[in-house]
Amino acid sequence: MAKPKIATTSLAGCFGCHMSILDIDDRILKLIELVDFNKSPIDDIKEFTSRCLVGLVEGGCANEENVHVLQDFRKHCDVLISVGDCATMGGLPAMRNMIPLKECFEEAYLNGPTVYNPGGKIPGDKEIPLLLDRVYACHEVVKIDYHIPGCPPSADTLWEILVALLSEKPIDLPYELIKYD
Ligand code: SF4
Repeated sequence: MAKPKIATTSLAGCFGCHMSILDIDDRILKLIELVDFNKSPIDDIKEFTSRCLVGLVEGGCANEENVHVLQDFRKHCDVLISVGDCATMGGLPAMRNMIPLKECFEEAYLNGPTVYNPGGKIPGDKEIPLLLDRVYACHEVVKIDYHIPGCPPSADTLWEILVALLSEKPIDLPYELIKYD
């Protein structure tokens, strides 16, 4: 029987949430028995080759490419999960939301203490994804079925949720996996 498929992606994130997926250690062997990975940095498959049961999204939307990838995940995944604080509420990249975009560019390319830019040019090539006016959490862009907070969520939390979804059981996390103090 064909195994269910999982896809993962990193939008405006740091890959820490993907590291947490890999932190399930030897349970990764069990996971590979249960599922096939489709589009994901884990197997380096760049495009969807089939519909997936679960999509795990790390990071929010900071540019137009992030929006395109997220919409593509919504289209191809039955269950879409925001993984980590960046995906669920913007996280660290959303710190720029309180600063006008023009000032962000000037700090990054002109005035920052480590910037060397004698030409004084701010990159604007058409190949570079257009930056959005602010960073958006994933649920502000598409419908999200589950939100997993944490920076990053623990490997045990991710494991419990995946196993519950794959075995079609309710997600019932023990208290120690959902407390963050
Ligand atoms: S939630 Fe934390 S670990 Fe995950 S992508 Fe954002 S900064 Fe990285």
